[in-house]
This record gives sequence, C-alpha cells and structure tokens, in this order.
Amino acid sequence: MTIFLGDWFHSRTTGKLSELATIQNLYIASRKNEYIGKSWSIDRRNPKNAWLYNFSAEGITGSKSIQPSTMQTKIRNFIRLGFLEDSTLLPLKWTSLGLLWSNSVKNGEGEDSNLLYKMIIANSIATRSFTHTNRDYDEYPNEDTLVVKKLIKYLRKNTVISYAKLSDLIDGDTSRVGKNTSYWINDLIQSGLFIEKIMENERVYSLNAEYEPMIQAIEDYVPMNRIRAKEIIAYPLAIGAPFREGLITIFKQYASDNLLEAINTLKNINISDKLIDERILDRTIAIQRGRNSGWANDIKSLYDYKCAIPGCDAEGSIFIEAAHIMPHRVNDILRPNSKEDLNNGVALCMSCHKMYDAGLFTFDLTGKIIISNFIYSYEAVQNVEQENVQRILISSNKKLNMGHGRNQFDGHYTNYHKEHIFLGE
Ligand SMILES: [Zn+2]
Repeated sequence: MTIFLGDWFHSRTTGKLSELATIQNLYIASRKNEYIGKSWSIDRRNPKNAWLYNFSAEGITGSKSIQPSTMQTKIRNFIRLGFLEDSTLLPLKWTSLGLLWSNSVKNGEGEDSNLLYKMIIANSIATRSFTHTNRDYDEYPNEDTLVVKKLIKYLRKNTVISYAKLSDLIDGDTSRVGKNTSYWINDLIQSGLFIEKIMENERVYSLNAEYEPMIQAIEDYVPMNRIRAKEIIAYPLAIGAPFREGLITIFKQYASDNLLEAINTLKNINISDKLIDERILDRTIAIQRGRNSGWANDIKSLYDYKCAIPGCDAEGSIFIEAAHIMPHRVNDILRPNSKEDLNNGVALCMSCHKMYDAGLFTFDLTGKIIISNFIYSYEAVQNVEQENVQRILISSNKKLNMGHGRNQFDGHYTNYHKEHIFLGE
C-alpha cells in the first residue's frame, strides 16, 4: 500500500482547555492601540522588541508568568488547530467557529463547545493535510497528498488500522522517527473523526460513525486551486469552503438551537467575499448567547462558579459549565421546561462535565456520586486527563455539592441520567 507522502502538518499540542484563558487574555490585549499592527512572532532577543514581554505578560492566568516564547507557542498552537486566524499580525482574530467555541465555553454550553472543538480540528486537519505547507496547497493542490482522505479510504476497506501501520504511514517515508505519530494521532482523535480502541492487546484506529457526514465530505473532496487553505480554516462554513456541507449536516444533527441559529447566519456568507468581518461575527454571537445563557449563568452562580464534584478544585467562570442532568434535547412531556429548569442543572468543570455526559459517573437525588467501572477503560477516558479522572474516583460515594439552598435534586432528572446515560457500575 502507498505511503503517505509529505511532512504532514500537525499541531504538536494537546490543545488543553486550560490554555483558553491565556488566549482569551491575549486576544483582548491584542486590541490595545499599542499592540495593533505589531507582529507577535518576531524575535524577542532584539532589544527593539521589548514590548513583546509586556504583551506576553497580558496572557497571565493565575500565578504562572508567561514569557514571549510561551506566548508564541500558544498562539501558534491555536492557529494550527484552527481556532485562530493564520496571521502574524496583532490583533489576534478568532476563526468563525473558533469564536463560537470560545463563546460556548464561556456560556457553559458544554455539548456545543465539545462539538465545535472537534469540528474545528476536523476542518483544520482535513485542509492542512493536503500537502506539506499552506503555500504548497495554495499553489499545487494535490489529491495524492491528502493524508486524511487516504486514511479514510484505507479504513473503508479495512475497518481498522493498527498503530504500527499508521505510524509507518506517517513517518515511514521520512527520516523523522518518534514523536510525529503520537502528535498526529492526537489530532486525528481530537477531531472526533477517528476512534482509538484496543483490539487483541493492540492499539487500533477506526472511523467514528457519529461524524460520518464530515468523513464523507473529506472523502468526496477534490482539491481545487481556488481558495486558500487560510480561508478554508478561517471561514469553514462560508459558501465555497470544501467541508461546509459535512460540517453543516453535523451541526444540524448535534448543535443546540442557539448554536444552529448562529451557524445559519455564518453559512450564508461567500468565502470569496471579503466582507466577513467582526460585525457579522458579533451578530452571530448575539444570537448564540440567546435565551439559554440566563439558565447557565444562574446555575453557575448557584454553585459559586465551582465544580460540584467534591474532589475537584476547578473554579472560575471560563472553566465552569452548567450541565444538564437530563440532556436538554430530551422531549419529556412530564418535564416540558427541562431545558430551563434550575433543578435540571449542576455546575461542573469542563472535564467533569465531559465525563458526566459520557456516563462515566452519575449521582442520585441525594447527590451521592456513583462511579462506573467503565471509567477504567482507556477508550472511554482517552480525552480526559488522568488527573481529572482521579478527582472523580476519589469522590466515589461522596456527596456532590448541591448548590445554594438545595438539599436534593429532582429524582426524575437524576433517574433519567442513571438509566439512559450512566454506563453502569
Ligand atoms: Zn470538576
């Protein structure tokens, strides 16, 4: 079988959510007059660029200081993953989906932010894997080097690919050995399009049927020399963007009503139209904030912006999300207002929220936390930091923080979660 050609772009990052706060701060600072028009990527050792130290320091979160080199790495990572627009000049700009993602996180819309996170990376790796570099893609779009497309084709035929084989495909034709495979696999998994599992004691990879429309869109795409990679990544939903239909189909399937409405505004823009500007994005953000944010904010303040899991120390409004106990898409005639019902909400940090929505733990109406044995299975927790898993484990049988003035939950909701979402003990 053919070896994948090219030094395939990868992000070299775990894309940790904890970096969001830094990027947000830098994003805001980059709009100050003193920084506008300057390049964030220039040489910090040149005395003329002393301002870089001030700018980097603006990214500070908590007590960790930020040096120019760290600032540069973080911005580069967010660009590579498709969250920020590809430009060396300040101010920083979110890509259209990047902005919706950041907004979802801030609003505590965990399901939306998870979905956006994956699709941003999916669009980015699909686009960037055309050839070695952006420039190559722009000048010589070439199907032969479309790595992700090849991988999909292979998996259609063979269902799974082993770690060894994938590693061979990625690093096989280059002199590089070692880390590239793990970086790339990281991106593939984070895109949501591929799943890792263990088969006969071996790590193997397969397609994730949940995101079939995006997989299909990549499979069907024939590169054209018309739009630049940069634009595809900045405006993935605009008319003319190659993976637009795939993304829209997925958003229709899984996005909340508010997010879908915001996305509907973005998708009517033409990619060649340079009028996509912040005013349009502002409008979509206004839609996305919509009706739901009141509920999310109320829940978060009920918990003083702290994660309800007793062993978890996450706090602060960026990392805390309002989680629905019974998912808001469930149409339940007994609880017609479940989406806005404060009894149907609990404040969790993003990683606890992920694990809760994945059914790795549940709690009963008294708030007692019950852990699923599946929490030990690698596949289920692969996207969650081990540290965070530990926090849940030490909270087993303990009582969840119930929030101000609440001594028990509505059993209707907690039962729903236990029966339909919890993976079982
Ligand atoms: Zn937590």
